Amino acid sequence: MIKDDTTLYQKALKKFGCRHQMILAIEELAELQVELAKVINGRTDVEALVTEIADVEIMLSQLIEMHHLQHAVAAEKLRKLQRLEKRLQED
Ligand SMILES: [Mg+2]
Repeated sequence: MIKDDTTLYQKALKKFGCRHQMILAIEELAELQVELAKVINGRTDVEALVTEIADVEIMLSQLIEMHHLQHAVAAEKLRKLQRLEKRLQED
């Protein structure tokens, strides 16, 4: 059982290196793109979509960890969600 995701990400970054993990992030983003295109084209494979979303979330967390962006990303995400909420209220 994984108790601390951050520790796991730090171990992965130490073992494989930031460059390798950034390349892997690009690969995982591409795999999610393929699955989304399949969904749009009516070839939905929920299991594959779930897998690729999970892969991308894990890689995004590693990108945030390697660049020490936890607070900046959280603040930007909050700002964007507030903007979205405001736009939705205008409709
Ligand atoms: Mg994948």
